[in-house]
Amino acid sequence: RPTIGVLALQGDVAEHTHVLEGLGAHTVKVLSVDQLDAVDGLVVPGGESTTMSKLAVRYGLLDPLRKHVAAGMPVYGTCAGMIMLADRVLGGTADQQTVGGIDMTVRRNAFGRQTESFEAGVRIDGIGTDPFDAVFIRAPWVESVGPGVTVLGSVPGPDEAGRIVAVRQGGLMATSFHPELTDDARVHRLFVDIVKGLE
Ligand code: GLN
Repeated sequence: RPTIGVLALQGDVAEHTHVLEGLGAHTVKVLSVDQLDAVDGLVVPGGESTTMSKLAVRYGLLDPLRKHVAAGMPVYGTCAGMIMLADRVLGGTADQQTVGGIDMTVRRNAFGRQTESFEAGVRIDGIGTDPFDAVFIRAPWVESVGPGVTVLGSVPGPDEAGRIVAVRQGGLMATSFHPELTDDARVHRLFVDIVKGLE
């Protein structure tokens, strides 16, 4: 039974905890380095990436997070959590820091004010062929990825490739959307399998 932490600086911690427990994982709210050191994998929830970045610095967690990512800890970031895992951010604030680890450039609030939030059926590699009912809330998209990054899902965009909304690089996974808000646990299950070393 893996122990999966949910970074509890901000965001929908309870919803992620609920889904992960439902999948048989033991969960821990992570607010300290000791708690971080004790988990097998970590979920970084949605929220506001600029605030999360400041809080991570204030709690002394930014460098420990970077060290764990460098050491291979599996981490799954949703929405603001995706931004936290990005090596490069467009539309961020000047002092915005990320943990990084995924060789990608994300654009904050990319879908624009007209579409503050929306739902879309998205096919995600690794969870079966049924589209996932994805909820986007002031979501980022992935503008570009490096060669080590696998694109898991996209929504229709200006060209044939569309807009990337789900990626994976080794044990790191990120989605623009919030799978903790719907009762389809397939994306979380994929992450739990990654933590278990099954994927
Ligand atoms: N727009 C937010 C940010 O830039 C992300 C929104 C979310 O996590 N729902 O951090």
